[in-house]
Amino acid sequence: MKEVKSLPPSGGLSRAAREALDGTLGDRVSYAEAIRSQHGSSETHFAPSLPDAVVFAESTEDVIFVVRLCAAHDIKLTAFGAGTSIEGQALPVAGGISLDMSRMNRVLAVNAEDFDVTVEAGVTRVALNNHLRDQGLFFPVDPGADATIGGMASTRASGTNAVRYGTMREAVLSLRVVTADGRDIRTARRARKSAAGYDLTRLFVGAEGTLGIITEVTLRLHPIPDIIASAVCGFETLDGAARTVIEAIQLGVPLARAELLDDAQMRAVNRWSTLDYPEKTTLFLEFHGSQAAVDEQVSMVGEIAAANGGGAFAWSSQAEERTRLWKARHEAYYATLGLRPGSVGWATDVCVPIGRLADCISQTKRDLDAASVPATICGHVGDGNFHVVFALDPDAPAEWEEVEAINTRLVARALSMDGTCTGEHGIGLGKQEALVDELGEAVDVMYQIKRALDPRGMFNPGKIFKSN
Ligand SMILES: Cc1cc2nc3c(=O)[nH]c(=O)nc-3n(C[C@H](O)[C@H](O)[C@H](O)COP(=O)(O)OP(=O)(O)OC[C@H]3O[C@@H](n4cnc5c(N)ncnc54)[C@H](O)[C@@H]3O)c2cc1C
Repeated sequence: MKEVKSLPPSGGLSRAAREALDGTLGDRVSYAEAIRSQHGSSETHFAPSLPDAVVFAESTEDVIFVVRLCAAHDIKLTAFGAGTSIEGQALPVAGGISLDMSRMNRVLAVNAEDFDVTVEAGVTRVALNNHLRDQGLFFPVDPGADATIGGMASTRASGTNAVRYGTMREAVLSLRVVTADGRDIRTARRARKSAAGYDLTRLFVGAEGTLGIITEVTLRLHPIPDIIASAVCGFETLDGAARTVIEAIQLGVPLARAELLDDAQMRAVNRWSTLDYPEKTTLFLEFHGSQAAVDEQVSMVGEIAAANGGGAFAWSSQAEERTRLWKARHEAYYATLGLRPGSVGWATDVCVPIGRLADCISQTKRDLDAASVPATICGHVGDGNFHVVFALDPDAPAEWEEVEAINTRLVARALSMDGTCTGEHGIGLGKQEALVDELGEAVDVMYQIKRALDPRGMFNPGKIFKSN
């Protein structure tokens, strides 16, 4: 396992802090090893790192209490949503308290006529969409995992729908945040646009819990489209699949989803989800709109695909079939690990301007062809964003070095194309050097903001920046 960076351990909680926690929170605080372990482990290649205690917040008042207590007793505080982040963001690497937000799971107000909703931060995206369905509305940001809205805002998550509907950056209208000095602030009202001062909403979106604790989120919603049509199309070459998406976007086709899975990923998906798609580079596509609009989009993309070596579209217009198709896509990460039982996953995440995408994926594929570790490629290619997932042997250090080197080359390749080291997974523990390579002195400015808002380095230490 990759070593987590070593920060001075918290040394456990003082007796006074424990008494204050127990006295106010009762069974909302836990010191049990199993609970601490669940909050100190991640889905990916970072070593576990346990908190001293886990608090299950049930209200903004609970959060304010915990923040003030941590400030008074110099305890580190790391928010925890669903724990699905990929770069070790929720790991409490300096101990202290893991603040579990999952019990703050109420949908507070649906404003159907305004197409917005206000939720507590622990609501998950699936629960939200179940709540909204009867009103003909949906929340489109879909990272696959059933993450919390607070966690998704904090990692600036996106996923399969972002090409059409945007990421959490576009989806969040306003936040309620508890700051390091225990203040309870709102960053904006519900208006669709505002020129009122600094854009604090955008500051907290993507801050990975290093600046404050989000307790409520107001989100934009969209009407459920009349027609949703999904299709799968195999290609002779990886380049042909990537070019199909690029040309469709350049022609202005409003694709709702455009996901690329390489031949290795398709082999893994077929095995994991008991499917029998041809094992070649494949696009999973989705079109939203009226019947006429969808027909037009499909015909344009069909022609572009055929010109780039694509086969016939295999359609899924029934809801059940579509769900099966996208479930298979969303389980691509686990499907890759399934290629090698007992393996540990390492998911990379670069994003480049769409015009450089075909080049970036093809060069990466050549790099992978020479690698000894099983790896697959999948990506939200409509945004220029793709992932390589490696299935590593946890007991083979040489493999870890090899993958680290491939990842470093991949990030350098993306940066050389004016892309980014992370399209959606964030910085966490894994991309701190890459962030400096990408943005240079701008990272110093970010750090100044961190110090201004959290002078004691209480919130989520060790993340985003090398120094706390
Ligand atoms: C199989 C799989 C597929 C994935 N696919 C995608 C994808 O396609 N796109 C994508 O963007 N991501 C993807 N992810 C990553 C993950 O789902 C996202 O990072 C998600 O946004 C994390 O949400 P969470 O609720 O699990 O947050 P956590 O992992 O619990 O926390 C993430 C970060 O947010 C902070 N945080 C959590 N809640 C709050 C709060 N209320 N206030 C302040 N800070 C908070 C935490 O401290 C931490 O720094 C995938 C993950 C898996 C396992």
